[in-house]
Amino acid sequence: MKKTSYKELGLVNTKQMFAKAIKGGYAIPAFNFNTMEQMQAIVQAAVETKSPVIMQVSKGARKYANPTILRYMAQGAVEYAKELGCKKPQIVLHLDHGDSFETCKSCIDSGFSSVMIDGSSLPFAENIKLTKKVVNYAHKQKDYVTVEAELGVLAGVEDEVSAAESHYTKPEEVVEFATKTGCDSLAISIGTSHGAYKFKPEQCTRDPKTGKLIPPPLAFDVLKAIEKKLPGFPIVLHGSSSVPQEEVDTINKYGGKLPDAVGIPEEQLRKAAKSAVCKINIDSDSRLAMTAAVRKHFAEHPDHFDPRQYLTPARENMKKMYIHKIMKVLGSNDKL
Ligand SMILES: [Zn+2]
Repeated sequence: MKKTSYKELGLVNTKQMFAKAIKGGYAIPAFNFNTMEQMQAIVQAAVETKSPVIMQVSKGARKYANPTILRYMAQGAVEYAKELGCKKPQIVLHLDHGDSFETCKSCIDSGFSSVMIDGSSLPFAENIKLTKKVVNYAHKQKDYVTVEAELGVLAGVEDEVSAAESHYTKPEEVVEFATKTGCDSLAISIGTSHGAYKFKPEQCTRDPKTGKLIPPPLAFDVLKAIEKKLPGFPIVLHGSSSVPQEEVDTINKYGGKLPDAVGIPEEQLRKAAKSAVCKINIDSDSRLAMTAAVRKHFAEHPDHFDPRQYLTPARENMKKMYIHKIMKVLGSNDKL
């Protein structure tokens, strides 16, 4: 693919977006996508709520859908938003969990406006070195590409990223890390987790009435300590799906098997969005919304076999979820 700058595709980086979000006490939604239906639902939701949005692509998504196709889909997303009546869409195309300099470079060269380099599994000094290399490349482009880095380890499984145990970000390391790497935002670990099984039952308490798991609270003391060390610096939360119980119940009712799936309560995310947290990653909730709608549709229409029949309600259900997140959790509506 010929080297392209994101501005040619109509995309924006996260710089201004994050500065406004921190000042305004809200967070930008970062939704992962792999399919056309997810992309359409994200754009429709962002346009209808007048919200900026980060569309992110993981390494697994690039493998599934093909990097070239995803990049053209992002370009299509901008044009689609305009067609839906949004004069100046604020859409970021972001690489989620870049695992090497080469992956980040390939994304930057093909038109991504933002990349994450995840060196969180490396020793501190090596994380700095790798992140700095990506930052140097991203920032020297004709159009400044923003870089997200990570310090601390999240538990859970997300595509190829997995860790058994979480390690909270150490507030005493953040200043040195941010200064030495020059990164534009920092993903931290304060108890969020990847996937639809964020906590083991033994980490939770149970609601005596419903028998549902109640997850442990996020470490707001760690977040506060980090904010104090880096005032006004953009903070990112990964693994922030809430795993809505109604979707899990629908899936289980129609033949699925997701016992004890549990996520981050929305009121905790709302509280985080009001702080320096200015990007919240949501992936599993979209997967659950899609699966619940498809399972329900097949149960009710066993004779259907046209993908448009079951993907239409799937797309609708994802869009409803995205709108809910934007308006009730992140507060990024009416910000265009
Ligand atoms: Zn993540």
